[in-house]
Amino acid sequence: MHHMTLAEIARGLADKKFSSEELTKALLARIAQLDPQLNSFISLTEELALSQAKAADARRANGESGALLGAPIAHKDLFCTQGIRTSCGSKMLDNFKAPYDATVVAKLAAAGAVTLGKTNMDEFAMGSANESSYYGAVKNPWNLEHVPGGSSGGSAAAVAARLLPAATATDTGGSIRQPAAFTNLTGLKPTYGRVSRWGMIAYASSLDQGGPLARTAEDCAILLQGMAGFDPNDSTSIDEPVPDYSASLNGSLQGLRIGVPKEYFGAGLDPRIAELVHNSVKALEKLGAVIKEISLPNMQHAIPAYYVIAPAEASSNLSRFDGVRFGYRCENPQNLVDLYKRSRGEGFGAEVQRRIMVGAYALSAGYYDAYYLKAQKIRRLVKNDFMAAFNEVDIILGPTTPNPAWKLGAKNSDPVAEYLEDVYTITANLAGLPGLSMPAGFVDGLPVGVQLLAPYFQEGRLLNVAHQYQLNSDWHTRTPTGF
Ligand code: GLN
Repeated sequence: MHHMTLAEIARGLADKKFSSEELTKALLARIAQLDPQLNSFISLTEELALSQAKAADARRANGESGALLGAPIAHKDLFCTQGIRTSCGSKMLDNFKAPYDATVVAKLAAAGAVTLGKTNMDEFAMGSANESSYYGAVKNPWNLEHVPGGSSGGSAAAVAARLLPAATATDTGGSIRQPAAFTNLTGLKPTYGRVSRWGMIAYASSLDQGGPLARTAEDCAILLQGMAGFDPNDSTSIDEPVPDYSASLNGSLQGLRIGVPKEYFGAGLDPRIAELVHNSVKALEKLGAVIKEISLPNMQHAIPAYYVIAPAEASSNLSRFDGVRFGYRCENPQNLVDLYKRSRGEGFGAEVQRRIMVGAYALSAGYYDAYYLKAQKIRRLVKNDFMAAFNEVDIILGPTTPNPAWKLGAKNSDPVAEYLEDVYTITANLAGLPGLSMPAGFVDGLPVGVQLLAPYFQEGRLLNVAHQYQLNSDWHTRTPTGF
């Protein structure tokens, strides 16, 4: 049962081959058996899952249908879930039970999805390895000595290990696409504003975007359909109609113009990944796509700009965690300053504290113009590069990551080395563009992803290209040994 995709589950439920309750019980048992190796869940919600599954079965018995009706999923633990711990991977929120559901959670529940639990993540979504979680590192099911990527590493490891078919995730600088690449999944970061951020605990508000992690593009289309749409509660949510993503999967790729940026193939890229990227280009050419070399000249400035803007926004967003209103409070505070200092010092982990300090510094008087303003200007240059490129091509293709998943602990003493691994994903967040990572082969037994980027609101085009590629390749069907 656990090998089924969301699409297969929907067909099985419609054909009454099994009930959502049976499937939910089977997956909960599988999680109990296998997750101790991976640590991909922070909380399991068995009771909620079983009641949602029964309700979905009843709705089907009453003649209702829908691709998500009775489908088991999990939420990254930064989507607020009413009455259920929403920890954001932090000691700061270890005791936080959200008083309401995030829009994404509410929408998926209304569509009939069944929530199995809340997945592990880097603390406050800061990281590329899922090692900064208060609840411990997540392991990559392809090799338990390696990281699964971050910050949505729990969602990725769980889906890759077939503990469930799909999960929600968020992407501020790559946290959907990079773990997708590291675990052989398909992951989509939508256009900024496509998916509501209401009830999603903020890391960097101008960059954060929720999206689906699944094994296939077909399943990403199903999950995105349930997540996307205008939300009056989120002032950055965009009031654009949501197309039928599943309907666009089968479009022909004849004449599709794919741009491959020459800057992507510089010194930092593992040549074995470069070769797999070229193979995927050839496969898409066979399907009728036309390949063109393009240039994104400002790409080299993206990492420094992001690692000013994201910490700056984080330092502001995380100021609300002060020991007074939310979460952790230190023991016996002597006075107000002591309360703030110790609650934040004890509640936040090292990487979060580093980001708060960098961000507060970049925003402080005298440094604002030199760092924050400069970074915002680079952000516009990065966006302009993309706008120019999309005058010439329909899709941009390249590696998702410069290297495959590294060993647990390998980059712990060198945060900048970890930041540099985000080089291919961060630009889409700076520009607000949609991006997708899909499986494209293996290096040393570890999965490799290819990233596709498209113009604003062209999620359907990304899913279409990835689906056509997946109809003609079998990388995405490979299963990690032992799962
Ligand atoms: N690795 C990036 C960071 O640490 C991106 C994280 C994310 O997308 N949430 O900021």
